[in-house]
Amino acid sequence: MIVEVALNLPIRKSFDYHWPDKLTIVPEKGLQVLVPFGAQKKGGVIVRVKKHSGITRLKNVETLVDEEPLFSEELLKLTKWTSEYYFCAWGETLNAAIPGGLALRLRTTYTPLTTSLPGLDTLSQKPQILIDTQSTWTQQEWLQCNPDERDHQQLRNWLSKDHVQSTQVLLGQKTKPKMERWIRLLKPDNPKNSVSRRKTKRQQIFEILNENREICWSDVQNRVNAPSQALKKLKEEGHIEFFEKRVYRRFMEGGLPEIEPFKELTPEQKSVFEKLSDSLQNGTYRTYLLEGITGSGKTEVYLHAVREAQKLGKSCLILVPEISLTPQLVNRFRSRFGDHVAILHSGMDDGERFDEWSRVRHGFASIVIGARSAVFSPMKNLGLIVIDEEHDPSYKQGETPRYHGRDVAIFRGYEAGATVLLGSATPSLESSNNVSNGKYELLSLTSRINQALLPEVRLLDMKTVPGQKGSPYFSSELVEALRLRLLKKEQSIVFLNRRGFAPLVRCSKCESTFTCPNCSLSLVYHQVANQVQCHQCDFVKPLVQRCPECGSDHAPIIIGTGTEQVEENLKMFFPAARILRMDRDTLHGKHALSKMHDRIRRHEVDIVIGTQLVTKGHDFPEVTLVGVILSDLSLNIPDFRASERTFQLLTQVAGRAGRGYKPGKVLIQTHNPRHHSLLCAKEHDTRQFRELELERRQNLRMPPFHSLTLVVCSSPHEKRAENLIWEIAEKIQKLSSNKNYSNTAQFTSEIKPIDSVQVIGPIEAPMKKLRNRFRWQLLLKADNVRPILRLLKQVLETPPSTRRDELIQIDVDPHHLM
Ligand code: ADP
Ligand code: ZN
Ligand code: ZN
Repeated sequence: MIVEVALNLPIRKSFDYHWPDKLTIVPEKGLQVLVPFGAQKKGGVIVRVKKHSGITRLKNVETLVDEEPLFSEELLKLTKWTSEYYFCAWGETLNAAIPGGLALRLRTTYTPLTTSLPGLDTLSQKPQILIDTQSTWTQQEWLQCNPDERDHQQLRNWLSKDHVQSTQVLLGQKTKPKMERWIRLLKPDNPKNSVSRRKTKRQQIFEILNENREICWSDVQNRVNAPSQALKKLKEEGHIEFFEKRVYRRFMEGGLPEIEPFKELTPEQKSVFEKLSDSLQNGTYRTYLLEGITGSGKTEVYLHAVREAQKLGKSCLILVPEISLTPQLVNRFRSRFGDHVAILHSGMDDGERFDEWSRVRHGFASIVIGARSAVFSPMKNLGLIVIDEEHDPSYKQGETPRYHGRDVAIFRGYEAGATVLLGSATPSLESSNNVSNGKYELLSLTSRINQALLPEVRLLDMKTVPGQKGSPYFSSELVEALRLRLLKKEQSIVFLNRRGFAPLVRCSKCESTFTCPNCSLSLVYHQVANQVQCHQCDFVKPLVQRCPECGSDHAPIIIGTGTEQVEENLKMFFPAARILRMDRDTLHGKHALSKMHDRIRRHEVDIVIGTQLVTKGHDFPEVTLVGVILSDLSLNIPDFRASERTFQLLTQVAGRAGRGYKPGKVLIQTHNPRHHSLLCAKEHDTRQFRELELERRQNLRMPPFHSLTLVVCSSPHEKRAENLIWEIAEKIQKLSSNKNYSNTAQFTSEIKPIDSVQVIGPIEAPMKKLRNRFRWQLLLKADNVRPILRLLKQVLETPPSTRRDELIQIDVDPHHLM
């Protein structure tokens, strides 16, 4: 038998291996195996079993990692589609699809087969002592002796002549099932009338086992002092047996939340739900876009739809942006569906995630709530997929595989015949366009629950409104509004999408800015830590007075503002207020975000200042004011999605105000009061924004009307990056003008053939240098993605040869053109 194995390597093909007789089980798709690759051993997944291979001298599969397939047929198909659409290796997608990845740890050990090794005395001192004193040694121990080239040569020599044998031991997956020792009662004791009043250990154990026939070893230990000997004896007598039982590590603290009844739906919610219910009953694929203003009760609709799917015996997948995955949301599901809910997100450790994933795989949990990668969860019989905040940019993965969670979910729904529900107050233009062209069906919720009104929004033109003494970043109107809320004991949110104290530090003498040595970016000043940091790589250093350029000792100038500085301003304006800063720098530990949410809910905080973290995923009824500082930040990014992002961010953050019984107010400080993103956000006019922006995109020939793919070449050497991209560009140009790229597409397409792929660039990337690599890029544009993929496939069949530390990255449907 031959098996085809997908490896977690950036090579877009799988490799054939021979299935050795020593592996007694029949090879099967989806099994995880360990195979030799070059001089190394790699973990991979069997993606095909076949009789013949085009290659003659095949290597053997080394070992089987697990006897149960890790991936079902459905997931193999989904990951294959993902890797083809996003132009990456299948193994890379498989690796991203399981918690902890395919990483396996191996230990190599060496054992001499003869008593005296020839040439032992020619080794350097330390390796010689190692071999002299140990009967076997590990590779790690060998390397710790700092062997030189001659030592390595000698070892290789011994290995080739079978004087020394090397063995590799699989240390298992990074994440393993956690097992517990349990005790089972087989034969009860004949109780003898004991004379002593003190119970023997034996009696105590029987007492416990009479209550529960099966009990965990550690529970017995808690109740009986040092029970081991007594237990052993009972086992020998055949009264009890020991067994291993798998326990599932759980992320959620405490038990299940109290059961909460389903809310009766409002007429508007009801008509949305009925559509979904019909679709679920129907059992065929359909995608719905639920456009519902903030606070209109979308989540309640999701809950009802999940209940309906469960009634039909179907499992459900709920995707949410990472930061909305808070206990409040999770508890809303757990209080309705209990332990049928599994949670998957990156804040959990590998063991917890692996166990939740296993609960899904074994059918113990049929409702999965998770961030992006949960789209690959192993549930069977999928009936409903919900993608909450479908417009959220965090659904797009920033590293290989660069997939979009929403789009992969839709493919999965299509294959499974599931109902897919995209929800948002500010749908993406892609999804809106798919409503226009009939691919999705639109559902809407137009009013807030409890007749709450959308907040009044005012744009404050910072060029004309009176400023506040003490900070150029505050208008006096915002400060007064905050003061009023403090007096009325209501809560406020101040939003600024930039952490740190100030984004620029400049020498007061030579005027050079402090930049990151690894990236072409200015360093951001963080006052609390008194250091400058790069927000792209991990570079940090203490802020020093001396200028790195001219050596002047004049104090550097700090320019601009960030959340730290706004917090400082607020403390100055309102010394008695309780202020909470919520950004990545103040989030420490696993449950930090939810602890902050609890504090806000309990009204232990008057003003929250924060980045994007404050904009979504929670419901604070006491918040009546939202202030936005520097609302134009996201507009100034050189990206065609800048307007869309700005509109979405402002609408989302404005939606935090006035969700309870008290009306809300939003003050947006800006330098662009006439920009359509701001004007539409002010009017809560999603439709107007969509129309304006779609027209603009059509004129620019940009998504959603055209498809983009970004190719980035990076290298530590500037010239190399440039040469690499040019090599690709020239090949593309040639092929695409010849129009002779092959049509053996793996994408069965009913779409009309496309004439050309437009090549834009090569240009130096806007982010010229990142993590010590220079970057050049080119952009491919076509009517849809298929011709681009066909072209890339041909061009990269024989990719330009890259050195170590050089990369060719392909980003299909990129979210940043930086
Ligand atoms: P969204 O997800 O659209 O922002 P939510 O589902 O969080 O809105 O609903 C906002 C608030 O209204 C929540 O506190 C929720 O419990 C409540 N709510 C939702 N639907 C109903 C309903 N049918 N009856 C009463 N309260 C509801
Ligand atoms: Zn200087
Ligand atoms: Zn950097």
